Amino acid sequence: MTGIAERIAAVRHRVEQSARAAGRAPSEVHLLAVSKTVSSQTVRDAYACGLRDFGENYVQELSRKAADLTDLPDIAWHMIGHLQKNKARHVVRSVAAVHAVHSPELARELGRRAAASEGPAAWGLGWQGRPNRLRLPVLVEVNVGGEEQKAGCVPAALGALLDAIEQEPALELAGLMTVPPYTEDPVRARPFFDQLTELRARYGGPARLPELSMGMTHDLEVAIAAGSTIVRVGTAIFGSRTVI
Ligand SMILES: *Cc1c(COP(=O)(O)O)cnc(C)c1O
Repeated sequence: MTGIAERIAAVRHRVEQSARAAGRAPSEVHLLAVSKTVSSQTVRDAYACGLRDFGENYVQELSRKAADLTDLPDIAWHMIGHLQKNKARHVVRSVAAVHAVHSPELARELGRRAAASEGPAAWGLGWQGRPNRLRLPVLVEVNVGGEEQKAGCVPAALGALLDAIEQEPALELAGLMTVPPYTEDPVRARPFFDQLTELRARYGGPARLPELSMGMTHDLEVAIAAGSTIVRVGTAIFGSRTVI
C-alpha cells in the first residue's frame, strides 16, 4: 500500500485548494473514492486513512467487497455505474446511494425494490448529516455531451425522470451526476459541467437537487469551479487501473 495515505492527502489538498479558489467552503465538496478493480484489502487501507465513501461500477464487485468488509461499520457503498433494471434488487440492500439513474423504468424498479426491502439498509448520504433509513437517495445521470455511446438521460428527458423519481415514496431525489466527454485539456470540460449546473437551476435548484456529482481525477478542479458537490476519484487515490 505504498503511498495511499499520501495520495489521499494530495487529493484532499486539490479539493480544498480548488474550493477556496472558487470562493467555496471546502466542506461543500465531498470525496467519493472510486474503488472499481482494486482489492477489498486496498479499500480497507483507504478506510484506515479516513475515507468512508466508496464508488463501484459493477453490482457483483460491489456486493463482493461489501461482504468482505462488513466489519467496517460506517463504510458507505455507492453504485456509480450503469445499472440494469434486473440488478436493482441486488443493490438496494447494500448501497448508500445510486448515482446513475437513467430512466423512469429503472427509477420505478428501484422504488419498488427499496419499498420492499427489509433488514439493515445502509441508505443515506451520511455527509449531509441526515442518515436516512427510510428512503434510498438517487442521482440522475445526465448525458450532457449528447454522446451516443454514453449512458445517462438526455437533457430533454430530465424533467419527466425527476418527476418519476419523486413519485416513488421509497426514493429520495438527491441530485444530478455527469461524466463529460473526455478532453485532453480538462478546462474544455467546463461547458459540460456548467450545463449540469444550469440544468439544476432550471429544474428546482439546490432545494430539489442538493448534489451535483461531477469531476474525476483528471478534471476535479474544473468541476469544483463549476459547482460540484461530489467528486468521484479513482486513479489519483488508487493508481492507474489495469484494464482487464
Ligand atoms: C471510473 C470512474 C470514475 C473515476 O475515474 P478516475 O479518472 O479514475 O478518477 C468516476 N466516475 C465514474 C462514473 C467512473 O466510472
